[in-house]
Parts: sequence; structure tokens; C-alpha cells
Amino acid sequence: MLPINYDYGDLVEQLCYAGRQFSKCRTKEERFLVYETYLGLIDSYFSVTEKEFCNKKLYRSFTKEGENFFLEVCASNFNTFIENKEFHTNLMLSCYEQLDSFFQEFCESSYCGCLEKKKIFPINEEMDEDSYLLMNFFNEKVPKLCSLYHGIISSGNLYSLGEDDWLREGLSIFNLVQKKANVFVSSFNPSFKELSIVPHELGHVEEFNYFLEHYSIMDTLRYFSSGFLSEVVSTYYEQLFLEFYMNHGNRRDDAVLAMINHFQKGINDIWDSYILASLPKKKLEEIRNTNVELNSTEIELIDLGILSPSFLSEEDRIIGVDISPVYAYGFLLANYFLEYPKSYALFNEKKNQSFSPEFLESVGITTESLSKTLIKRSEHLFGKYLD
Ligand SMILES: [Zn+2]
Repeated sequence: MLPINYDYGDLVEQLCYAGRQFSKCRTKEERFLVYETYLGLIDSYFSVTEKEFCNKKLYRSFTKEGENFFLEVCASNFNTFIENKEFHTNLMLSCYEQLDSFFQEFCESSYCGCLEKKKIFPINEEMDEDSYLLMNFFNEKVPKLCSLYHGIISSGNLYSLGEDDWLREGLSIFNLVQKKANVFVSSFNPSFKELSIVPHELGHVEEFNYFLEHYSIMDTLRYFSSGFLSEVVSTYYEQLFLEFYMNHGNRRDDAVLAMINHFQKGINDIWDSYILASLPKKKLEEIRNTNVELNSTEIELIDLGILSPSFLSEEDRIIGVDISPVYAYGFLLANYFLEYPKSYALFNEKKNQSFSPEFLESVGITTESLSKTLIKRSEHLFGKYLD
């Protein structure tokens, strides 16, 4: 069983500490750092305890300013997406078309048919199989995650996500005031997919530490607040973990199933981002920071003559307008960097830059190289299972 801490004393202490800092801040930026930290801590404390812990009077007095500042930070990230919307539309469509047809073929293979019928035994927590699977992966593939993991455990900041927290698979809350990370993962009969969220969240922690060491606290905040590159490293580790167990040990089927799930989510994020980027600029500006329904957005594009009616999705879902492209790029770039480690090293040096087509090009990525690599990666992972 994962060494999860069920004592929330430290979270309460962090909340009280942040609360005391509100009155000590002098600048708008300082107040915003405290506000963001407080907001994240309240949310995560509620998720694990279902209890509210908030000095409402204190909090309300900063809400308006904090929200405005947050919108400013997100706006600069999202503006670059709108400015280059034609680039994103072409890139997403090209990647979607390539990947979706490959993946459909794989899902129709006899291997996938057999896999669906197989009984998968849950990860044996009593025997500490979950910890073993993680440690074995860290030691073999990414030893630096091992020390990060032990650091989080020994400081007591590995918590369980609330049982009712269905929307999220994992969560990292960064205390920008005390400069520490809190990680929340599922602790209820973890499946392989849920276990892969541990390396994912540790990827966020690694980046948090890296930013604290190399850049200013405001750069850190900007990167993590809907920055378009903020899901790349986490997705990279999540996929590396699943790939490792597709090739090692006796949990191969579980790992393949989890990877299928991971790819399905990636394909959905790519499609959703294509739909968003296809919208007129004015419309995109109106719906930023909101959620929209996929089907009604598709119908809008059909009415405008931008999308063919035959592309209307069978299933509807909610799209987080400023979230979906972040996950789509997280998935796309992670796949690219897993095939091209040199580009990954370059990306890690340059990632504190504004997200633009020129930035992508500077790490070797064009629409063509990305969609080609996506197929190379899919063949690498799933090719041997095709009929
Ligand atoms: Zn993440």
C-alpha cells in the first residue's frame, strides 16, 4: 500500500501560514502568490476531508484582485493560442487524422479483442505490489524520481485524493509561499492507470523544484497557471511508466490496457483542441476560461461551414477551453520527446519561454515532424499487436 499520510495537520498549518501572509504582502504580485496558494490549499483540503477550512472574510477581501490577476496571467497564455490559431488547427487536425486511423486499426485487432475479455487482477496492495511497481520503475528508468518520491513521503505530503473527487485522477498543489509541494493520488484499489498518476504528479514536482531553482517565483506561477507546456514532463513520465511495464514483468496486459486508455484520452484532447482552434477569434475570446459542450461547438462549426456534418462526434463531453489544449500539447510533445531524447533535453533548457510555433521549431518540432513521430511512436508501442 502506498505510504499515504492521512494526518492533515501539515495542510492546516500551511493554510494558517498562508492566511497570516495576506496582511504582510506589499505588492499585487505578492498578494497573488498568497491568494493562489490559499486557493489551492482550500480546494485540496476540502477534497480530502470534505470540510471547509477558509477564513472567508480574509479570503473574500482578496478574491476580486486575485481573480483579475489570474485572468491576466491566463490571458497572456491563451492569447498566444488565439494569435496562432491557424497553426494549431492544422497541427491538431494533422495529428488527429494520423493517430486516429492507426489507433482504430489497433483497437480492432484480435489482440485487443482478447484483451477485453481477459480478467485483470487488481494490484495487490496487501503485498505492497503498488510500491514495488513504482520503485522498480524509478530505479530502472528514472532514479531521480525515486528521491523526489521519498522526499514527498518523508515530509508527509503524499495524500489521498478524496473518494468523491471523480473529476481528477491526481493533483499537485504547490505552496508558493513556503515553496513546498503537496501531492494527492488515488488510494482506492489503484489500477495500473491510477498508479501511473504517481510518476505523472512527480513530474510536476520535478518541474516545480526546477523552476524554483532557476527562475523567479512569478515565472513559476505563470508556467503552472495554464501554461501550454505544463503537462509535458508529467505526461512524459506517465507514459514512460506504462511503456516500461508493457515490456517488463507479468503485468503486461494491465499496462497495455492503461496505455490504450491514455491514448484514447490523448486523442480526445487533440480533437477537442482542433474544434476549439477552428472557432473564429472573436468566439474564442468570448469563451476563454469557461467550459463548452463538444457537440454544440461542433454544430456551431458545421453551421459556419467550417466542419463537415459527418465529423459530428458520437459522444458529447465537456471541454475546458483553456485546459484541453494544455493536455493535448502535453500528450503530443511527450510522445515526441520519448522518441527524441535530445530534443527533450533542449526543451527542458528552453521551456521558460512564451509558447509559439517558433518555440516549437527551436526544439525541432513542426506539424509534419510531430504527426510523423506520433505514428512512429504508436508503431513502436502497439505495432507488434496488429494483425
Ligand atoms: Zn498533470
